[in-house]
Amino acid sequence: MTESNNDCIFCSIVAGTTPADVVFDGGDTLFFRDINPKAPVHAVGIPKVHITSLDVLTGDEHALVGKILHEAADVARDLGVSESGYRVITNVGKDAGQEIEHLHFHVIGGEPLGPLRS
Ligand code: 5GP
Ligand code: ZN
Repeated sequence: MTESNNDCIFCSIVAGTTPADVVFDGGDTLFFRDINPKAPVHAVGIPKVHITSLDVLTGDEHALVGKILHEAADVARDLGVSESGYRVITNVGKDAGQEIEHLHFHVIGGEPLGPLRS
């Protein structure tokens, strides 16, 4: 974990230098709409500190991750998909297709999402 990484787009969203459509600010977390949504509702939730992925999580960050997941449910409710259902996903590394190396949880819904793999 580092406070911020100059090369990281999500850190620059946290810093306010890259604009984002913020849907929830949890103080130490931020949720904003994905710039390239994969479903009618697609938000991304991040810790404001720079953590590369779940793979490097430490015990000190357990509460932070639990908080993000709880907030993801609140954001899903605010965005109107808690009744219809939604998916929360975090990609880790190359085979998962992780593009941004700052821990994030996708909150996706608003239409039937199909199986995890088809
Ligand atoms: P990953 O593939 O790393 O799990 O997901 C990264 C996500 O971040 C992608 O869905 C991508 O569309 C989104 N994304 C990448 N750059 C930006 C950006 O500058 N702003 C926003 N709001 N989303 C971004
Ligand atoms: Zn970052």
